[in-house]
Amino acid sequence: MLKEFLVGGRRRSLIQSLLVAALALTGVGTAQAQVSAPATPAKIGTVYTGDVINGKKVVSSLSTDDLEPGRKHLLYFQGVQMSTGQHWYVSVIAAKGAKPGKRITLTSGVHGDEMSSVHTVQTVMTQLNPADMSGTVMAVLDIARPAMESMQRRWPSSGRGLELTDMNREWPGNENGLGAVSRQAGLVFNRLLKPNSDLAIDFHTGTTGLDAAAFHIGDMRIPDVKIMMMLYPVPAIWDNPVYPGVLHNAYIDAGIPCFTPEVGVARRLELDMIPIFVEGTMNVFKHYGVVPGAIGRTAVDANVYIGKSAIPVLTTHGGFVELLVKLNATVTSGQKVAIQRNAFGEVVAEYASPANGLVGGLRSDATSEPGNVLMFILADAAPVSGAASYPE
Ligand SMILES: [Zn+2]
Repeated sequence: MLKEFLVGGRRRSLIQSLLVAALALTGVGTAQAQVSAPATPAKIGTVYTGDVINGKKVVSSLSTDDLEPGRKHLLYFQGVQMSTGQHWYVSVIAAKGAKPGKRITLTSGVHGDEMSSVHTVQTVMTQLNPADMSGTVMAVLDIARPAMESMQRRWPSSGRGLELTDMNREWPGNENGLGAVSRQAGLVFNRLLKPNSDLAIDFHTGTTGLDAAAFHIGDMRIPDVKIMMMLYPVPAIWDNPVYPGVLHNAYIDAGIPCFTPEVGVARRLELDMIPIFVEGTMNVFKHYGVVPGAIGRTAVDANVYIGKSAIPVLTTHGGFVELLVKLNATVTSGQKVAIQRNAFGEVVAEYASPANGLVGGLRSDATSEPGNVLMFILADAAPVSGAASYPE
């Protein structure tokens, strides 16, 4: 049983693994965890729970093969339970083409404050006519529901008192895992995303407190990832696999090419920016034969900049920040990019760009504690290992 736990949660943090080991040694907890969560079915089919919410049928697992071709299907997926015993339901749209073809999945809402990701996916889905499609496009719009309800990045859970968990470090999750977030990720990944995806795109934005440019995160060594990202008229790409536990890497580990578009800032809609992400997504559908029509503008038209790393500029002091550069500005190594003052107005720190590159993100609050990401530079320089340089 211990081996199963450790293998099943190989991306789990060391602390969590040690905790599981301790529970197993004492004979406590693991057995309860085993019986309290349903086993993953050997073959994923569509299971209707019999519930209907706001006119939408509820499924606890989905195979889009089972859906009627030539129309859109609006469903709720039954996610993990809340403390009251009710479930966190997730909104699913499946546009099932009249003919078979590639199955492409779009996701948003893994972080709860990233509204332009949701709006981009909604807009794409309104442009699809299943009668003309060959293949299926599935959209899952609000994966971290409790984070979205409170317009915050992280999922609030109550395991050890209120905790905030970044769901995009939990994938592929574990249906029998420690805590609701891991279980939600496991349920969504095993019963909804993985069985229905040949290709996938996980939409995000910057996070609260950071102004962010339009760009993609993805590993261009994977041919289909490179093809998809280059089909967008988006002006920058961060060519890097980034962190363990992000959804796009869980897909890739499962053999499903995936990347992460970043649609500007958090909390509000980037209505001027969203159309280039919609156009690129439609290009992807056309390239893979899911939707008929000519390819629109691509990365070539956007004169795309491809950087290998996103290098953070971290604050060394607390104080009031004055930024000297704007988003998308070209900067050179050593160029002064920000000044920080204390409450007396005395300069306590000056910050320089660590590399030649583009300003991809900027702190939006005018104060900062030490250790925050003041900005990050998309750069050709070698990737920085260790700390998360960009809170995607
Ligand atoms: Zn995000």
